[in-house]
Amino acid sequence: MISEKMYELGAKSSVIREIFEYGKKRKAEIGADNVYDYSLGNPSVPAPESVNEAIRELTLNMNSCDLHGYTSAVGDNGTRQAIADDLNKRFGTSFGMHNFYMTCGAAASLCITFRALAEKDDEIIIFAPYFPEYKVFISSQGATPVEVKCDADTLQIDLDRFEKAITKNTKAVVVNSPNNPSGVVLSEDTVKGMCEILKRKQAEYGKPIFIISDEPYRELVYDGVKVPFLTKYYDNTIVCYSYSKSLSLPGDRIGYILVPDEVADFELIYKAVCGAGRSLGYVCAPSMMQFVIRKCVGQTGDISVYKHNRDLLVNAFNEYGFKVAKPDGAFYLFMKSPEEDAVAFCEKAKKYELLLVPSDSFGFPGYVRLSYCVSTAMIEKSLPSFKALSEEYNLI
Ligand code: PLP
Repeated sequence: MISEKMYELGAKSSVIREIFEYGKKRKAEIGADNVYDYSLGNPSVPAPESVNEAIRELTLNMNSCDLHGYTSAVGDNGTRQAIADDLNKRFGTSFGMHNFYMTCGAAASLCITFRALAEKDDEIIIFAPYFPEYKVFISSQGATPVEVKCDADTLQIDLDRFEKAITKNTKAVVVNSPNNPSGVVLSEDTVKGMCEILKRKQAEYGKPIFIISDEPYRELVYDGVKVPFLTKYYDNTIVCYSYSKSLSLPGDRIGYILVPDEVADFELIYKAVCGAGRSLGYVCAPSMMQFVIRKCVGQTGDISVYKHNRDLLVNAFNEYGFKVAKPDGAFYLFMKSPEEDAVAFCEKAKKYELLLVPSDSFGFPGYVRLSYCVSTAMIEKSLPSFKALSEEYNLI
């Protein structure tokens, strides 16, 4: 009668969403200020004022039918050229508008790319800890996700494990740096090592193996850390980007897919991306947001707030005896659970009104994720609760 698979996806919400819903209920009971919700990656920094200015300017000066009408299926030419120019300036690349397909954010970019590439029996490698939706997106588009655990100490890619996981069926590997949930930025050594392996394996199997670089956090890095731009290291790289985090526009659903000329069979792949967009109903990304991006390309919200939040939490956790590495990017902390069962730890944290996400659904049990894209005031108010929680575990 209906698709059993789709029913299951709809009926079973994600762990993160469940915690978020619990938080909403709890806030209604005891007041929003008394619940410390670290569950969701919803940016707390406002979009830069230039975004509002662009919207005002567009609604005042642009013909309404043009502003709100369809653009071409792949996106507005001027927007795609503006994005190409910005990346070329920043990374010394030579992209043109023909390399871009505008989308409704990274989720759409990923689904389209998986659909465009995946054939029966194809495997797509994901590195744990991973963004849980990867498994949903990959399997829904007809491929099989294959998990490879990162190095437990550094949370960088374990290159030996990676090499062993590649088979003749490997179509692509998903890379997410800065990472959700760990906040880790892949080092240049790791990137070079991964690309060497991929080049070797492409030669061995006589076929392309793609990197799908999921980059919604590309600009969210602190202390001058550089994020290696993967198209510079490996020809068969397809970039899935979103403005959800860099411009704090998650609800406006805008992003793109970048297929560089260097990708093997560029013409075919780009056409397959267009076909996948068409088949999934992802044509013509929201027009007004495309025009806003044309004006605001290359900008970010005030990310110094995230750095401040990160430092506040990391310093406090060090003092309280929680084990956490200082992440270089995104807005997540990945903390070791003081007991093996991170789900049980999160339940105990709830007693102190702390809402944390156990790492099981990220494919890397024994940790918890905290989204620190929250108000600094909430973090400051929550610290005594973390201290009390650490005392319950005798960490100090
Ligand atoms: N990829 C990662 C790693 C994410 O963390 C997210 C959202 O949190 C997405 C993709 C989806 O982003 P978007 O809101 O642009 O669809």
